[in-house]
Amino acid sequence: VSGPVGGGHGRGLTRVAGLVNGHTHAAMTLFRGYADDLPLMEWLEEHIWPAERRLEPEDVYWGTRLACLEMIRTGTVRFWDMYWHPGATARAVRDAGLRAVVGAPLIDGGDAAHSAELREGAERSLDEIVAEGGDAVEPALAPHAIYTVSAESLRWIAETAAERELPIQIHLSETEDEVAKCIEAHGERPAAYLDRLGLLGPRTVLAHGVWLDREELELIAERGATVVTNPVANLKLAVRGVFDYPTARDAGVAVGLGTDGAGSNNSLDLLADAKFFALLQKNEAGDPAAVTATEVLEIAAGRRSPLLGGPDTDDHILVRADSPELSLGDLDAGLVYAASGSVVDSTVVGGRELMRDGVIEGADEIIARARECARSLGLN
Ligand SMILES: [Zn+2]
Repeated sequence: VSGPVGGGHGRGLTRVAGLVNGHTHAAMTLFRGYADDLPLMEWLEEHIWPAERRLEPEDVYWGTRLACLEMIRTGTVRFWDMYWHPGATARAVRDAGLRAVVGAPLIDGGDAAHSAELREGAERSLDEIVAEGGDAVEPALAPHAIYTVSAESLRWIAETAAERELPIQIHLSETEDEVAKCIEAHGERPAAYLDRLGLLGPRTVLAHGVWLDREELELIAERGATVVTNPVANLKLAVRGVFDYPTARDAGVAVGLGTDGAGSNNSLDLLADAKFFALLQKNEAGDPAAVTATEVLEIAAGRRSPLLGGPDTDDHILVRADSPELSLGDLDAGLVYAASGSVVDSTVVGGRELMRDGVIEGADEIIARARECARSLGLN
């Protein structure tokens, strides 16, 4: 899917497939560089959650615009998002010219007594996403995780998604503790639990999957669900495990790559994360042949999952083939092992050049507005 660009304009560019960020929380760019280097629960409970309660739709809008700016610069053409005020996210995606699958995080505290509120919130957010996002945005149901959503609500989400043919995104098996608590509460591992509730299917994206075992991966393959691995966020939050990609691939699991939010990465440069993914998998397997550069690029472009990349489009990027990182050697190896998103020259979505020669219109204003939002939230 790559090759030199014709037309004789002499820009030294090569066309490659656009990247698909399979799991992020775009507006969390507002939290970049805020409360880093803390234990996971302390980070969430004492810093992120209290600040998130102060978020207004305008904050989410400008935080998402900043995320889109970074994704356009680094070659991402489509992303899967889960965050508060999803109508504002959808509007930001539309205004930026990107494509996204957007869902509000659905949470009932694991208490069925709050399921009615969850359903109302879900309906409201679906309406907002459709109203604000236009053609480029697909609404999704995004139950936060099995430990924050009750079985009753998860079942309703499964039924609703099936009826309306909506995608589902959920965090699954991110920490070892989550698996232990699932076994204790339900007598089964996370993937089996989700399957029993009807949530594992070809429209489901499971983020993380760090602790999925062989049996779970075989079940996920059989159901046609996609696992999106987020190697950098997993490393930064020190979850200790590594998603078992070789077993997943051999079982036939659809796989994608995500950055997770800028609060826990802190970058949205998917090409940089593709290198982390490759190196982590090689080291974990004790085998430099565990994954190839071409395979990693296909995963990063959403081409190892029928769901992630969406319907076939002509979205693409142009990379600087005459840059120091790419001027010699195999292009795929150069993109994964030598380059980062800084080699992207142009990003084209739906026939529109969102970036040309490294220039994105309106970038200065977006950065200034996002800074103002972070400052007014006391984050910067
Ligand atoms: Zn996440």
